[in-house]
Amino acid sequence: MQNEIKGKVIAITGASSGIGEAAALMLAEQGAKVVVGARRADRLEALVDRISEAGGEAIYAVTDVRRWEDLVKLVQIACERFGRLDVIINNAGMSQLSRIDELDVAGWEEMIDVNFKGVLYGIAAAMPVFQRQDSGHVINIISTSGIKIVPLQGVYAATKNAVRTLSEALRQESKGSLRVTGISPGFVQTEFANGIKDAAIREVLTEKMSTMAISPEAVASAICFAIAQPKQVDVGDIVIRPAAQD
Ligand code: NDP
Repeated sequence: MQNEIKGKVIAITGASSGIGEAAALMLAEQGAKVVVGARRADRLEALVDRISEAGGEAIYAVTDVRRWEDLVKLVQIACERFGRLDVIINNAGMSQLSRIDELDVAGWEEMIDVNFKGVLYGIAAAMPVFQRQDSGHVINIISTSGIKIVPLQGVYAATKNAVRTLSEALRQESKGSLRVTGISPGFVQTEFANGIKDAAIREVLTEKMSTMAISPEAVASAICFAIAQPKQVDVGDIVIRPAAQD
């Protein structure tokens, strides 16, 4: 099969750790030009150095997905440096898990801003370029939390399912001019649990990750699979979770 990844310009949000970082490394290794964004500049710089030292091409832009103008800048940098944008991977995400009746309004707002509005901003920043090129690929990282609904994850799952809904609408509206892929991982071994405020929930999640989580590279492979398909083939949804996850 022809390598559809080689030479593609791919922007990735939340690339300073976990799934985003693994995807950047794997895609660069397969010949993509990657443009990585997140808030932690030191991590992004180290990632770009690592890719460059291995012979790949990468640049970074400090990006907070809560800021629309940061996403515009990320896309702009891709176009200035590499002349186009082929794929945007809306991967940045966070969670503040809690019971709904605990009313963690600040946590709800953060999840809506990062997990949902951040994806909208990514799409909005990439869309004019994709329209100009009459081609583009939007990959949204969703979650199995939105497939199997469980207590404590209500608002997090709702933000993820908002992205699922959005992805399907975008796919239908684009009538073949865009490819749209939603990838829903289950437990993945990353830094994801570290930011959870509630210590007890953080501990349970960290423990679960250490016993059953799959590697971020497993999800990166799914991302590569979707991008590697021929132009006329759109991989709509991928669910990828530990075999042991219920
Ligand atoms: P990590 O915590 O390792 O990575 C999250 C990334 O998102 C980091 O690079 C972080 O970078 C970035 N990020 C967080 N907030 C912002 C922001 N405001 N602006 C820009 N970047 C931000 O976790 P994962 O790799 O696991 O998470 C990646 C995606 O996968 C998320 O969307 C998550 O919901 C999803 N997911 C994860 C699962 C898991 O079990 N790990 C399961 C299902 C889905 P920085 O702090 O530098 O900004």
